Amino acid sequence: MRNLKTSTLLFELSKPARRAATLPACDVPVERIDKLLPKDSLSERLPPLPEVSEPEVVRHFTNLSTLNMSVDTHFYPLGSCTMKYNSKRNERMAALPGIADLHPHQPDETIQGMLELLYELQQILGEISGLPAVSLQPAAGAHGELAALMVAAAYFRDKKLLRTKVLAPDSAHGTNPASAKMAGFEFVTVKSNAAGFVDMEDLQSKLDDQIAVFMITNPSTLGIFDKQVSQIAQLVHKMGGLIYLDGANMNAILGITRPGDFGADMMHYNPHKTFSGPHGGGGPGAGPICVTDILGPYLPAPVVEKVEDKFRLAYDRAQSIGRVRSFFGNVGVLVRAWCYIRTHGPEGLKAVAENAVLNANYLLSRVKHILPVPQGDRCMHEFVASAAAIKKKTSVSAMDLAKRLLDYGFHAPTVYFPLTVPEAMMIEPTETESKETMDAFAEILFRITEESPELLHEAPHSTIISRPDEVRAARQPMMRWKGDGNVR
Ligand SMILES: *Cc1c(COP(=O)(O)O)cnc(C)c1O
Repeated sequence: MRNLKTSTLLFELSKPARRAATLPACDVPVERIDKLLPKDSLSERLPPLPEVSEPEVVRHFTNLSTLNMSVDTHFYPLGSCTMKYNSKRNERMAALPGIADLHPHQPDETIQGMLELLYELQQILGEISGLPAVSLQPAAGAHGELAALMVAAAYFRDKKLLRTKVLAPDSAHGTNPASAKMAGFEFVTVKSNAAGFVDMEDLQSKLDDQIAVFMITNPSTLGIFDKQVSQIAQLVHKMGGLIYLDGANMNAILGITRPGDFGADMMHYNPHKTFSGPHGGGGPGAGPICVTDILGPYLPAPVVEKVEDKFRLAYDRAQSIGRVRSFFGNVGVLVRAWCYIRTHGPEGLKAVAENAVLNANYLLSRVKHILPVPQGDRCMHEFVASAAAIKKKTSVSAMDLAKRLLDYGFHAPTVYFPLTVPEAMMIEPTETESKETMDAFAEILFRITEESPELLHEAPHSTIISRPDEVRAARQPMMRWKGDGNVR
């Protein structure tokens, strides 16, 4: 049913001549207007904008803002996305006038504080990853992948080596193959075995002297740590290839182990996942990349350098792949990450990882009695349950369960990813949730599996729209009012 309070468009509320503000009559003489504005640039009609009062506008947007679920309003166990609580303090820090009001065109001497902060963040990210050369420029995780693969391509070009292939396991995030293609490589999928680890035989059969990069997410999207990673790195390095670590979700290993120590040559971070940057709604995020010293010269320019006790943006880097984003990245997100990291300190970051893993294992131990978790009894920061058995028995799918959770005030887990698990439900509680919240989630999930399939097929029942056609919504979005009574 249509909820008038929230789904009415401003255009439908419009009444001729209704206004939020009134302006005094124009006191510029008509002859002068004619001179200033040529006739042929003047419209004959007013633009078709909604005519509404101020309270109508305020209520419209305030009500719209309550339709979404968010980390501030609901438990949000969206696997792989790490929807941890974003502390308000870091928002306040990033909004301080001395930070928020800087202009990226200011000369370096006038932004020494900001450059020092960014320099320190480069150092810290290099230390956490064990990969010392850092660029803060990429604007998101996927953008970091692309930038790092371009760095790899520049390195091989420089060495006059023809390298055409990027490999990644079938459990990889969809951005891995997409980044490989965009960077000009051929993409080859490597199989995972039943336990969810890289199938070493399949990897060996696909390794040749055309390999540029092997991309691995570790812990993987199944929430398990592939202990073969050092062995994989040795094999790939022997063939002259590089290892890329998809570090979007560093939550499980912060301060515990370092990608550079287990064989990675390059990685990206998602500060908007790991370091509590707010995300969702398309950004902004950031995707800083860290690489070995050998790859450092190819990083995007500028990087922040320290010369004596001054900080500068270094553009003069002959081997750099150049700029991948305007100025030096999404600085607001990087400031939040710096605050988060500095607040926790090394021991605190380790505790973040330990608690993220503890929470995920606690929830796994409850959920596995409701839905089987094919890849085992233990996990890292997340786990993947399967609704395949329930679907076979009752026709209730992972999608039905996910949609019904919304009726009970829980954001749905990630569903149907990774593709290697049938009817996948990927659950990541994060370290910021209490035992009570996780208990409540497990109890509701259990209650839902006892409900009638008919009820679940139609869920959600409490939201303003129930099941949009997701393909059509993406392919033919209706974003604009055409002024003739139709939204197109
Ligand atoms: C989120 C994610 C990405 C992509 O990060 P964006 O910031 O959304 O571009 C890549 N890999 C993994 C494993 C992820 O979870």
